Amino acid sequence: MTIIDGKKISTDLKEELKSKVQEFKEKINKVPGLTVIIVGEDPASQVYVRNKAKSCKETGMNSTVIELPAETSQVELLETIERINQDPDVHGILVQQPLPSHIEEYAVTMAIDPKKDVDGFHPENVGQMVLGNLDKCYISCTPYGILELLKRYEIETRGKHCVVVGRSNIVGKPMANLMLQKLKETNCTVTICHSATEDMPSLTRQADILIAAIGRANFITKEMVKPGAVVIDVGINRVEDASKKSGYRLAGDVDYEHVAELSSAITPVPGGVGPMTIAMLLKNTLQSFMRANNL
Ligand code: NDP
Repeated sequence: MTIIDGKKISTDLKEELKSKVQEFKEKINKVPGLTVIIVGEDPASQVYVRNKAKSCKETGMNSTVIELPAETSQVELLETIERINQDPDVHGILVQQPLPSHIEEYAVTMAIDPKKDVDGFHPENVGQMVLGNLDKCYISCTPYGILELLKRYEIETRGKHCVVVGRSNIVGKPMANLMLQKLKETNCTVTICHSATEDMPSLTRQADILIAAIGRANFITKEMVKPGAVVIDVGINRVEDASKKSGYRLAGDVDYEHVAELSSAITPVPGGVGPMTIAMLLKNTLQSFMRANNL
């Protein structure tokens, strides 16, 4: 059984990005820039934003964090986005979610210039991705990170049955769509499960590659997994744990302890898919910089 080490792969990837950033700096005296906007004081979001900014700096990219108060109006937020859309030194724009309830997520997604939408949420990027024009879009970071893991671990995907559990716009749907495409690291037969799926175990048990993006701790039990399957766990769930100082620990959507022993490869939580998401965000930012500068 192989433990898919997302921490190591993301570190390797960041090193590769760092040397590319350095190379371009020497060539054209410019570096990629990422601006992250955070509205309000959600503590978990603040941690995510800090981590993104830190990783950005580690690779030599410029990073700006714009912190707006929770009472910022939608109009004010959209004006801020428009200002950054026009800034030639910014190649990637990300608005941290969740947003306060008076701000419509869709309006924010639509306001970001698709060329700087390094989260890959804008319909123009989603549409190009669905069409298979991967050189013309930004792929949303979590599914993109999973592709990178499958590629670097040389996991055989062609013709395999991939079952994705979850159909969110940021993980499940793009993931299933990518696995369906005729790429070297995908080309699967794909099934998507969700909360209305009947007899889900009969479907997940058919999976050669099982991808869980549900948001429920330990939901995928060993009875739901075919022996020898590759198991990718996207879930990040807080589970109460009195032995921890914080009072909780992180658990995936997969019952790792019991599923790991029958799988052929599995991602742990933490240290699997999670670290890849930030690395792919940086990769998308570099890609945007390269496109903007015809590199
Ligand atoms: P959402 O809540 O947006 O989507 C969850 C999906 O799971 C929905 O499609 C839902 O179905 C389905 N689902 C929920 N409960 C059940 C159930 N009992 N049976 C079958 N299907 C069910 O979550 P996200 O996609 O945003 O995130 C999923 C998980 O991944 C979360 O734990 C999140 O924290 C984590 N995550 C991790 C990232 C990383 O970097 N590693 C990045 C993003 C997310 P329905 O559509 O019918 O409601």
